[in-house]
Amino acid sequence: MINFNVPPYTGKEMDYIRQAVESQKICGDGQFTRKCNEWIEEKTKTRKCLLTTSCTHATELAALLSDIQPGDEVIMPAYTFVSTADAFVLRGAVPVFVDIRPDTMNLDETLIEGAITEKTKAIVPVHYAGVACEMDTIMDIAKRHGLVVIEDAAQGIMSSYKGKALGTFGEFGCFSFHETKNYSMGEGGALLIREEKDIEEAEIIREKGTNRSKYFRGQIDKYTWVNYGSSYLPSDMNAAYLYAQLEMAEEINDARMACWNRYYKNLTPLMEAGKIGLPVVPDGCVHNAHMFYIKTADLEERTRLIAFLKKNDIMAVFHYIPLHTAPAGQRFGRFHGQDIHTTKESERLLRLPMYYRLKVDVVDGICDKIKEFYQ
Ligand SMILES: *Cc1c(COP(=O)(O)O)cnc(C)c1O
Repeated sequence: MINFNVPPYTGKEMDYIRQAVESQKICGDGQFTRKCNEWIEEKTKTRKCLLTTSCTHATELAALLSDIQPGDEVIMPAYTFVSTADAFVLRGAVPVFVDIRPDTMNLDETLIEGAITEKTKAIVPVHYAGVACEMDTIMDIAKRHGLVVIEDAAQGIMSSYKGKALGTFGEFGCFSFHETKNYSMGEGGALLIREEKDIEEAEIIREKGTNRSKYFRGQIDKYTWVNYGSSYLPSDMNAAYLYAQLEMAEEINDARMACWNRYYKNLTPLMEAGKIGLPVVPDGCVHNAHMFYIKTADLEERTRLIAFLKKNDIMAVFHYIPLHTAPAGQRFGRFHGQDIHTTKESERLLRLPMYYRLKVDVVDGICDKIKEFYQ
């Protein structure tokens, strides 16, 4: 059986977890959390990174820091994971969904401006498959309308747009280290902060509304409750697992890219014959091989292909059900304009096995089966 995903494991994780345990400091903000934060800051060139318990929580933190209020509107694609919307719905805000581009599956930047009302507070671009949204246009719109940009870069670590790391364009960027992502700690994430002015408040909200981070740095001699907050710190044992992978980030990225490129090369003839669609990576975007997908003619063909691959012990899976068609999406959000591509393209998309340590000859075998299906 060829699994769709296998969580990344480099071999050093257990050693680092043991070190965390033996240091007798296994709560949040221990040595490994610090190392992960510093690694991400250096790699992405962001001002500040704070490890969190998930990308969902990083987005919640960003919503709190952006002072999102009940009735505020937040523009985002409907083709995304529920967390993108949840973080804002929890604040009483209304997700306003705009259609996606069929080439990248990212929100169509040309539709954003038409969705802006006087209630709009933020734009949340989602970098699907680690391929960047059109950030120049999005940042320009945000600037002209005074909107906050919160990037859902859950899939985007190690990716860039015109040489700049994803997650570092908006006021806030959110990474995920869930076991399905390129680098993992089981459950976990990170908040990237662009502006100096937001750092202290972020530290406070992440630490239950206390100024404990300042206390640990010796800047004050006792800590106290100074604001609302929650608990968004991961255990240092989880951070230890992640650090082992961040140390090998280039190697993991290269291995994934080799598989991605092999899929692309093997399947190009089927695309040229007009049978399937392949991912599009626009100029200026460097991606991280988070995902390899193909597009079938329609939903019916996709269902048959999934069954065919499964019969051949290959696990291939579809992805998001557009949020505006889900019960909670209908209750909490609204779709602005027409759903021309979101539903149609989501029904065609099929994700193929992709993980660190997937072998290129296994990729060849999967591609052979897909070719067989289309013969
Ligand atoms: C995985 C993912 C999330 C959620 O990440 P968690 O760390 O599981 O909270 C959010 N948005 C997108 C686009 C994702 O792919």
